[in-house]
Amino acid sequence: MLSDAHAHLNDKAFDNDIMSVYEDCLNKGVGIIVNSAWDRASSEKALELAEKYDNMYFTVGIHPHNAIEAKENDLYALIELSRHNKCVAWGEVGLDYHYDFSPRDMQKGFFGDQIAIANELSLPLVLHLREAYQDANEILDKNIDKLNNGVLLHCYSGSMELARDYYNKFGCYYSFGGAITFNKNNKKSVLEVISKDRLLLETDCPYMTPVPFRGERNTPALLGLVRDRMACDLGLTAVEVENLTYQNIQRFYRLGEK
Ligand SMILES: [Zn+2]
Ligand SMILES: [Zn+2]
Repeated sequence: MLSDAHAHLNDKAFDNDIMSVYEDCLNKGVGIIVNSAWDRASSEKALELAEKYDNMYFTVGIHPHNAIEAKENDLYALIELSRHNKCVAWGEVGLDYHYDFSPRDMQKGFFGDQIAIANELSLPLVLHLREAYQDANEILDKNIDKLNNGVLLHCYSGSMELARDYYNKFGCYYSFGGAITFNKNNKKSVLEVISKDRLLLETDCPYMTPVPFRGERNTPALLGLVRDRMACDLGLTAVEVENLTYQNIQRFYRLGEK
């Protein structure tokens, strides 16, 4: 069974055909989908999807891109949504200095606040970090006592050294999506340095569409392409990758308790 640790079926790109996308996912063997949120409205929509579809779960949170438009009481509203039994984590949260859509101080403020909230609620964290690893390190180090519920770095794009470092310090999980199919086949993969009990598959759909469908809308139905590339990079079979990532997603999001 395929499991998508980080999707956005709550994105407007799926408004018109979510039913057929969902059926397509089932037909392609996708058994678990975790939809991540980026603001209040997307958190509410992710909850609605989780109530409607059996194998969907969700996270709530304010993405660094959206910090700038967040309202004062949004975090309180998210705390209420997070009490739903299919809410499995807080995220995606973090820092994005590639686009800098929100001022950096504001990004850092929301990041620190949401680490504290997730800890209060005993929820794991889903992190989005881009070109901001140094500041992220400082914030994570400062909050290390608040990271005991698990940390997932989605769409990791840092170095191999840092991946090892984060694992050693914070026990991080890593989810990989279409981006791993962009690399040339002979390039050494960051996957190889990550402990196998920390690897997850993700789509980040509608973004990050894997080769050979780049430019089209991504959906969890294409997750098999990422699985195949992960299997190839790690010298495993497709079934081994599915089993491994299934066990890991269950453990990270504590799905057995839901
Ligand atoms: Zn992200
Ligand atoms: Zn995302």
